[in-house]
This record gives sequence, C-alpha cells and structure tokens, in this order.
Amino acid sequence: MIKYQLKCECGKEFESWFSNSEEFDKLEKKKMLSCICGVSNKISKQIMAPQVVASKNTDNNKQQAVYKNVQKKLEDLRSYIEKNAEYVGDKFVSEVRSIHYDKKKARNIYGHASSEETNELIEEGIEVSSIPWVKKTDS
Ligand SMILES: [Zn+2]
Repeated sequence: MIKYQLKCECGKEFESWFSNSEEFDKLEKKKMLSCICGVSNKISKQIMAPQVVASKNTDNNKQQAVYKNVQKKLEDLRSYIEKNAEYVGDKFVSEVRSIHYDKKKARNIYGHASSEETNELIEEGIEVSSIPWVKKTDS
C-alpha cells in the first residue's frame, strides 16, 4: 500500500491510496485520476516524505540529493521492517485483526492490503501505516 500526495494542475492537493506505484501509473495513463475541480485530470504524485519539500527555489542538484537521501532512508526503513517484522503477505488484514482483537500474541507484521481494507482497519481503530516500498539499489 502506498499513500500518495497528489497534486492537480488546478493547484489542489489531496491524498489517495494505491496498492503500488504501478497502479498509480496505470490509472494515470488511462486518465482515470480525477480532481474535485472536475476540470483537469492532470494529476501528479508527490512522495509522502517530510524530507521532500518541493520548492521553486531548490536547484536540481539539491533536489536530486534530497531524493537520494529519501531513497536511502526508505531502503533503511524497508530493511528495518524486514528484520523486525514478519511478512504475512496477503493475509495481512486478517492477521492484523487477530492481533488487534487479542487472539494472537502481539507482534510486528507487514504485508499487503487494498485501500478499502486499509480504510476499514483505520475505521476499526487499528493502527496501520503504509510506506513507499522501494526497490533496493545495489550501491
Ligand atoms: Zn483540479
């Protein structure tokens, strides 16, 4: 699950959940992303990370460096999760529920959930977070 901060051509910003970055690209290509302005479907995504501050005054090199830094941090985060949590794949939602409702011993898990499922969990008061799941670079 990835939460993207989206920005419409009209200047409005809003958040949306995607199962992965490919899903966003697919919807974007088909022009299926829309803004409440109803006028434009030119929606662009912004990485949800506080380190990324899009400023007109930021020169390209600096921005590149920031993105590199974010990529590194996300890789670290991924490694950390892989080390400290159990991968449960598509069973994520049911596992989360059984942990939350105390049927199982609390433990850290990670896996997949659709945006609807994630919203349901949040409505049930279950704490879930989604992070951009980056591919590891070799360097
Ligand atoms: Zn708009």
